[in-house]
Amino acid sequence: MKALVYTAPREVVLREEPEPAPGAGDVVIQVDAVGICGSDMHAYHGHDPRRVPPLILGHELAGEILSGPGKGRRVTVNPIISCGHCEYCVQGRNNLCANRTMIGMQRPGGFAERVATAASAVIELPEGMDTRAAALTEPAATALHALALASRALQRPVPECRVLVIGGGAIGLLTALLLRHWGARQVFLAETNALRREAAKREADVEAFDPLAGGGPGENSVELVIDAVGAAPTRKAALAAVKPGGVMLHVGLQDWASEIDMRKLTLAEVTLIGAYTYATADLRAAAVALHEGAFGKLGWVEERPLAEGARAFDDLHHGRSAAAKILLRP
Ligand SMILES: [Zn+2]
Ligand SMILES: [Zn+2]
Repeated sequence: MKALVYTAPREVVLREEPEPAPGAGDVVIQVDAVGICGSDMHAYHGHDPRRVPPLILGHELAGEILSGPGKGRRVTVNPIISCGHCEYCVQGRNNLCANRTMIGMQRPGGFAERVATAASAVIELPEGMDTRAAALTEPAATALHALALASRALQRPVPECRVLVIGGGAIGLLTALLLRHWGARQVFLAETNALRREAAKREADVEAFDPLAGGGPGENSVELVIDAVGAAPTRKAALAAVKPGGVMLHVGLQDWASEIDMRKLTLAEVTLIGAYTYATADLRAAAVALHEGAFGKLGWVEERPLAEGARAFDDLHHGRSAAAKILLRP
C-alpha cells in the first residue's frame, strides 16, 4: 500500500509499505481522511523522542473497517490504545493509562491507505456524518476535554466568562469555536500568523489579535485562559492575563519547562490545569458535537491528496497555509 513515511527530520516520503499486520483483537481500517496534527509537525521537526523514523505518522483518521469486528462501519479511532484494566482505565480516564501505546507513535499511523488498530479503540460515527467532520474528532475531543476540565474549576458558568485562547492552530481554534457555541461572553484569540487570524475572525467570530503587536484583553482581565501553544512566553502571557481566582489551562506543549510566576499563582489563587488528549467519552461526545454543528461549518479545513503530503508538511513548516488543519486523502 501507499504510505507517507517520516524518514528523517524535515523529510516525509510517499512510498510503498507492507500492508498492516493486524494482531489478535485488531481491526484494519481503510483510511478515508487523516489530519496533520501539531504533534506530527513536532515529530517532523525531529523534536519528539517517542516518534522514531522511519515511521508512518498520523492519528486523526476517519475511514471504514475492512476486517475485524464492525466490518463495513464508518469509524474514527481513539489513537491511544489503552490497556482497559489499570487504575485509570477503570475510571474511564484512559488518556492516563500507564500501559498506553499510540498509532503514529509506537505503531504505524494513518498517513497510509490502510491502518491496523485495536478494535477497542474504534469510535463509531453518527449516521451520515461527513468525512471532513469525522476526521476532526480527535482534535475536537482535545478541545472538549480541556474545556470540560476548565469548566469544573471555574467559579461561574462559561457564558459569564471572558476567555483568552492562545494559539490559532486546530486546538486553539476548535476551543474558541466551542466556547462561542457554549455562549462565552467574550473570546479573544492570540495568534501571530496573520492568515490564521483572518480565518479565525471569519470562521469563529472571535477577537483575534497579534500578541506581538500588543492588544488583547490586558492583564488580570479574563476568567479563563487556554494556552494551546505551551511555550515559555505563552505561559507567561497566560498567567498575566488571568484574573485573580481564575483558571489557566495548559493544553499545548511546545517546550517543556520555564519559570512561572508562583507569586501570582499563589496570591491570586489561580488554578493551573494540565490537559492531555481525551478519554473515549470525549471522543464520542466530540463526534456527536461535530456532526450537530457545535464547531461550526469547518470551512477553514483544507483537503489535499496523500500523495501531496510532503508539500503539506513543508507548507505548514513555513507558515504558508491559512488552514489550521490540513486533511490528507489517500
Ligand atoms: Zn492530534
Ligand atoms: Zn490502562
